[in-house]
Amino acid sequence: MRRRWLFADQLGPHFLDDPGQPVLLVESKAVFRRRVFHRQKAHLILSALRHRAEEGDARLVRAATYREAVTEPVTVCHPTSRAARDLVRRLPDVEMLPPRGFVTAPRDFTRWADGRDHLRMEDFYRFARQQHGVLMDGAEPCGGRWNLDADNREPPPRGATRLDVASPPEINEDEIDDGVRSELDRWQRVDGIEFAGNDGPRLFPVTRREALARLRHFVEHRLPVFGPHEDAMLAGDPWMAHSMLSPAINLGLLDPVEVISAAADAYRAGSVPLASAEGFIRQILGWRDFVWHLYWYFEPRYRSENVLGAAGRLPKWFATLDADAVEARCLSDVLAGVRDRGWVHHIPRLMVLGNYAMQRGWRPAAMADWFHRNFVDGYEWVMTANVIGMSQFADGGRMSSKPYAAGGAYLNRMSDYCGGCRYDPKVRVGDDACPYTAGYWSFLARNEPRLAGNHRMGRPLQGLRRLDDRDALVEQEHARGSRAP
Ligand SMILES: Cc1cc2nc3c(=O)[nH]c(=O)nc-3n(C[C@H](O)[C@H](O)[C@H](O)COP(=O)(O)OP(=O)(O)OC[C@H]3O[C@@H](n4cnc5c(N)ncnc54)[C@H](O)[C@@H]3O)c2cc1C
Ligand code: SF4
Repeated sequence: MRRRWLFADQLGPHFLDDPGQPVLLVESKAVFRRRVFHRQKAHLILSALRHRAEEGDARLVRAATYREAVTEPVTVCHPTSRAARDLVRRLPDVEMLPPRGFVTAPRDFTRWADGRDHLRMEDFYRFARQQHGVLMDGAEPCGGRWNLDADNREPPPRGATRLDVASPPEINEDEIDDGVRSELDRWQRVDGIEFAGNDGPRLFPVTRREALARLRHFVEHRLPVFGPHEDAMLAGDPWMAHSMLSPAINLGLLDPVEVISAAADAYRAGSVPLASAEGFIRQILGWRDFVWHLYWYFEPRYRSENVLGAAGRLPKWFATLDADAVEARCLSDVLAGVRDRGWVHHIPRLMVLGNYAMQRGWRPAAMADWFHRNFVDGYEWVMTANVIGMSQFADGGRMSSKPYAAGGAYLNRMSDYCGGCRYDPKVRVGDDACPYTAGYWSFLARNEPRLAGNHRMGRPLQGLRRLDDRDALVEQEHARGSRAP
């Protein structure tokens, strides 16, 4: 049997044909020279590779280039980026197999997508539920509804500073982590390699064993309460009831199929309500697979789409994760989360970070690069649809029906940030004007002609036209620009 070359995001058993198959792993310092990655992301990847190298018949090669490292005939599962796929195609004696680590096969996605005017996650998700028989009672969705989102949009519990839910099992670092930490210190000190963010204790799994422990604990203790407050944010509780499994799934340590089965089985066993099981499964069978397929389905230039003509550079405070420069409590806290953990949950990514960038008109491709480098679960394939499409609406609606733009009222409803903030979410103009509220209206004003044809934007644009302080607001936000709010 040929040795299987595993990329660093293909580390679990489902990337092998046989548990005993010999493995090639490649570690390249050059990757970290080219771009400034979050320190904890670099740690996670190196630690995961080195832990995997301790298992079975594995050979870990440290090399400047993949060409140098791959010196024998190998097979490899289809990589997760175009650059890696093209490289694999150029190497002699490398046989590329179909992709693994996702649920729906590429040809089934293409069959579903071809000929549709708009590609919507909800439609794909229903197709995938039927195709894979997930949460189905015969031909009908369990409980008679496909979508229980309406039950899952609750604000945080009134007066709570954290959700009443068990914390995930702690990660115990070992000597491999110690080695990675000292090596990264040396790279910074001696080789001049730069990292973003703060170092910190490792928070996410790097081995199959750790990943399975997290999955089991999540399904038993956290999934039952996952649904209702899925979209809520609390300053004192960055994790809420989220699974924190994205780094492990994206490193390939967990097969999404087993994660979905664990959640569906818990629902069938009566230990998890349908709204929570459905809400969670929708994220993986729906969103995760959808964005993966869109990465390949859309043409490569999709990544540089910019229909709103957003040309602003990322300001230094944002680019360098300088949360202390920011007074807006929501943004400061979320940016600090990225700096200190390389992870925040979905709503801070979409409605605090992405929303702010879109309001200020920062370049979508620069945001995609920023998310990719600064998040422990960030990979090229995830960025395209999530950042270019969903968060920045730079594709003009090819995958979502309207921009995810919101003002302080939304953030106030869904978080406890505004109470302790120096701004007021209800104020548009003046010293206390919330930068999100004012930013929302100035975003609409700037893009009014571009959004006018979008029927879902009709009401917001009517609201804009009724504003009696529109000119003052636009002038104020022009002056605020991209300064730290
Ligand atoms: C602007 C932006 C950037 C994002 N960047 C990334 C990224 O770099 N890597 C990443 O894995 N996810 C990304 N997401 C999706 C989502 O925010 C994260 O997957 C999620 O917050 C990870 O935390 P969790 O594991 O606790 O997720 P949970 O809320 O517990 O969800 C369960 C799982 O569903 C999957 N998932 C949910 N939504 C998405 C989605 N939109 N795209 C892909 N997978 C999804 C993840 O595997 C996640 O582990 C991004 C979303 C936005 C809006
Ligand atoms: S008032 Fe505005 S800036 Fe302050 S926390 Fe609320 S939404 Fe954020």
